[in-house]
Amino acid sequence: MHDLEAILLSVALMITVVSDIIRFPLLKQDRGSRFFVELLIGYSLYLGIASLVLLAQKQILFYPQWLVRLLWIVHFLSIPCLLAMWMHFNALNVITDEHLVNRLTLVHMIPLLILIIVAIADIPRQRFYPITEGFVDLTPNAGTYSFLILSFFFCLAMILPTLGHRNELPGSLLFISLLMPIVFIISLIMFAMRKTCMLFTMVNTFMLVLQYVVGQRDSIRTDALTGLPAYSLLHRKLMRIYNFRAQYTIVLLDIENFRYFNARHGTVLGDAMLVAFSEFLKTLVHVNEVFRFSDDQFCLCIPQQQSVSIDILAQKIRSRLEQPWLLGQEQVYIQVNMAMVNIPSNASSLDELFQAMKQLAFDVKSVHGRTMLVYTRQSSIEHQHTMNILSALRDSVRKPEQVCVHYQPIIEVATGKMVAAEALMRIRDVNLGFLQPSQFIPLAEHTNLIIPLTRILFSKVCRFEKLVEETTGYPLHISVNLSGKEFSSKSLAKALLEQMEAETVDPALISFEITESVVLHSYDAVAGMMDELSKQKIAFSLDDFGSGYSNLQALMKLPYTYVKFDKSVLEGAQSNPTMLRLLTVMLHELGKCIVAEGVETEEELALVRSMGIERVQGFYYSKPVSPDALMDLLRSKTWW
Ligand code: C2E
Ligand code: MG
Ligand code: MG
Repeated sequence: MHDLEAILLSVALMITVVSDIIRFPLLKQDRGSRFFVELLIGYSLYLGIASLVLLAQKQILFYPQWLVRLLWIVHFLSIPCLLAMWMHFNALNVITDEHLVNRLTLVHMIPLLILIIVAIADIPRQRFYPITEGFVDLTPNAGTYSFLILSFFFCLAMILPTLGHRNELPGSLLFISLLMPIVFIISLIMFAMRKTCMLFTMVNTFMLVLQYVVGQRDSIRTDALTGLPAYSLLHRKLMRIYNFRAQYTIVLLDIENFRYFNARHGTVLGDAMLVAFSEFLKTLVHVNEVFRFSDDQFCLCIPQQQSVSIDILAQKIRSRLEQPWLLGQEQVYIQVNMAMVNIPSNASSLDELFQAMKQLAFDVKSVHGRTMLVYTRQSSIEHQHTMNILSALRDSVRKPEQVCVHYQPIIEVATGKMVAAEALMRIRDVNLGFLQPSQFIPLAEHTNLIIPLTRILFSKVCRFEKLVEETTGYPLHISVNLSGKEFSSKSLAKALLEQMEAETVDPALISFEITESVVLHSYDAVAGMMDELSKQKIAFSLDDFGSGYSNLQALMKLPYTYVKFDKSVLEGAQSNPTMLRLLTVMLHELGKCIVAEGVETEEELALVRSMGIERVQGFYYSKPVSPDALMDLLRSKTWW
């Protein structure tokens, strides 16, 4: 191949790359990708000058003497200039600190500038760069040596940072970054020996095409928003970790309630938040150790022999989260949940790891910033059990017959008669058997399945209410538990009233139990709904009173008819009844009717009675029973 053919081929390839960029703009918008375009322009200029020189060499074109000299010098200088651009491009890809890259490039530019000034100043006198007839010879003199030495120096300046950062670079980038200076050095040696820049031209073209292909391929695997490697690259990294039997800790970070963040602040701020958080993560670990796992989840892959301990890392993340994030004009806070798995000790194969990651991605949502969730094989068994319960809950929503309601009588202390019953949910699953609330209520709340399940329970309660009245001739007052999640739907009150209307149940026979924590978390929603339903004569109970921090203001403001003492209040009162007495006096002052929960013994009942508490609910009288069993109790009339 001759010089002219090499140039023509290069021009054709450059036109292909440029037209491809015009049709499919570069996906990655980082500094390196932008500089790639500048490099393309620089190389196109080089090709233009090289072809003009070549056309004169082949005596196809004839120029005046001054133009010949100028072209010759520019052609010579274009080689170190191009190499300086390659060096800068390589540094942008290899070194993360952009300021450092700029400083390094500036320092490297000084000898190049001196060379350019000297070479241009030399045009009239021709001492530094003697020009031979027809551009054919490269005489060994000061100009030639300095130009070659500077070019080799730029190649060396590509190798050193690459070697320095070799541990952080992805395999393909490391390979290209090392290949590039080596092939440039070979082409320079050929240039010095053969006096033809054909190989240099071809190497440039080849490297540009290779960079373009690899860059585009990697940009598909890079998250466009944060610039972090995406899931597919994580997959590859994990495969490598297993192949090399390396020991790593995989940390999963989940921004809590990010959907809510987006809804509240808008997606523009949401995106800015994700970028800011990913930038923060990049400061904690090496660049190739942080990945975007999903929309609001990030993943760190940290070698276990690395000096930074996971505890310190978690501490750094927590301390940062205590500070606000400044996004534009706004200051925002986020909560991040963390989970980790050690490989290969806790997941010995890629399959097992992906299973663990899937589990962590689900479980981490319920950590609520408390501690780092640690994956172990035991937690995997528990997770499997949780998943089984979850599928039982989903099944129950489709098959309402699986949702069972048990009723626990509420007794009037003075008369020993049943005055009401609390409806308590159970799930009957073919595989798991009979599930108690403690096994499924938190999960049902977490997944929002509690909403359809309560609807099913409530319609069963309404039907039972009718049945009791028809069978015994007496109406039964039933209380139903509502969970916090149900207050997120605005139409709750409307839906409950509609259900009562459809079953023709008197709203005065229904009461709802709401726990304190629900009131504290969604005060406005609870207050609005209570207001609306109270107008329909529906009563409310404050459930589990005394089990946590009590908000007396909420207690006074909201229209509760009943306050149910948690079982723990009665237990505490056995040794010291003062608290129970004070609470009872206060609630009576407020005009509330008290129900003592968890009464199991004669002594407890006596204590409750001595305090003047109106109602009790507990195993002393009855455990929660099936609707049939309750009906039998009601029919026997002993409690009426
Ligand atoms: P809760 O609303 O405070 O219901 C009372 C719980 O105390 C019931 O447990 C009942 O069996 C238990 N209990 C009653 N008397 C005694 C006693 O003397 N000794 C002892 N040790 N326990 C007693 P259960 O049925 O397991 O329900 C537990 C919790 O699950 C309920 O506490 C309630 O918070 C929740 N839950 C139950 N059903 C539903 C439901 O339909 N919807 C919602 N959102 N939560 C429900
Ligand atoms: Mg209750
Ligand atoms: Mg309770």
